[in-house]
Amino acid sequence: MKISQYFKTSSKPFPSLEIVPPLSGVTRESINSVLDPLMEFSPKYINVTTHRDEFTYERLPEGTFARKVVRSRVSTVAVCASIQERYKVEVVPHIICAGNEAYEIESTLYDLKYLGIRNVMALRGDSLVGEKRFTPTPGGYTYASELVRAIRSFGNGDGEDFCIGVGGYPEKHFEAANLEDDILHMKAKVESGADYIITQMFFDNKVFYDFVAKCRAAGITVPIIPGIKPLSTLRQVRFLPESFSIDIPRELTSQIEEAKEDKQAIYEIGTLWCIAQCKDLLSHGVPAIHFYTMSRTDNIRKVLEECFR
Ligand code: FAD
Repeated sequence: MKISQYFKTSSKPFPSLEIVPPLSGVTRESINSVLDPLMEFSPKYINVTTHRDEFTYERLPEGTFARKVVRSRVSTVAVCASIQERYKVEVVPHIICAGNEAYEIESTLYDLKYLGIRNVMALRGDSLVGEKRFTPTPGGYTYASELVRAIRSFGNGDGEDFCIGVGGYPEKHFEAANLEDDILHMKAKVESGADYIITQMFFDNKVFYDFVAKCRAAGITVPIIPGIKPLSTLRQVRFLPESFSIDIPRELTSQIEEAKEDKQAIYEIGTLWCIAQCKDLLSHGVPAIHFYTMSRTDNIRKVLEECFR
């Protein structure tokens, strides 16, 4: 079933999950152990992220260097096929522009169609490690809006093959000059054919409510689904703002400071904060909540028990 149908037909809000493919060399048990404890909460779909290839340079005997592709994770398509088979749930593979030529993306879409996968998330992806600005791959796409258009016109061009989700940034994408411009670029993704938006994680719901209001004022009418992650370690207080260009509210950081590096206490503070965030989002009528699991389950399970039982 297409995800857009769930938004139209579900009588109550529901959770969805996002996982990262495991490192190459492990078996499917690694993902099953993350998902098994969460499936009783009936997530309607599970997103699987995609990570661009990285490169290393090997010195050759004659003194020159050869570039070698490093593909460190199991492929998104393989993980999707395994989840679909085991749990009979919709999967949403992420398709990224970064590092891919158009024909490679088209070939992935054929693989997905072959597997009966009718939902995708279309994203630009990020720069290579060490690269300052995103550089489009020759023969590929520069912006996610172009990718959305390409997916829409895939196959016989009737636009019916895939339901397409795209990313949104309540605190602005780090490259955008301002939030208003960023929202206009997001609107271009919807006008290119995106069916719904999932947001970057945020820890202050007011930021999300303001973002949704601005999107609606800009004429964006598709569902906007909050993306949520419970904070779980002290390290994340520094790492998450740096990696995702988001703020962590002072009220939360001061609670963590008071915990004085007690790992369990910090874990519980993050989980309780997330439960309060989700209850507030549900009371404001969101149609669904998307959980970034980052392959941790205890805290997500606790949040689901409190908010979706
Ligand atoms: P775009 O929508 O293309 O926007 C990128 C930047 O370009 C923005 O600043 C935007 O304002 C600007 N822009 C857009 N169009 C134009 C235009 N026409 N002219 C000028 N500027 C423009 N990354 C991964 O690598 N793999 C994943 O699996 C993954 N999953 C994600 C899931 C979610 C829900 C989210 C929110 C993000 C995810 N990301 C993932 C991260 C994402 O790839 C990065 O944030 C990336 O930097 C931007 O992707 P985008 O699709 O939002 O890009």
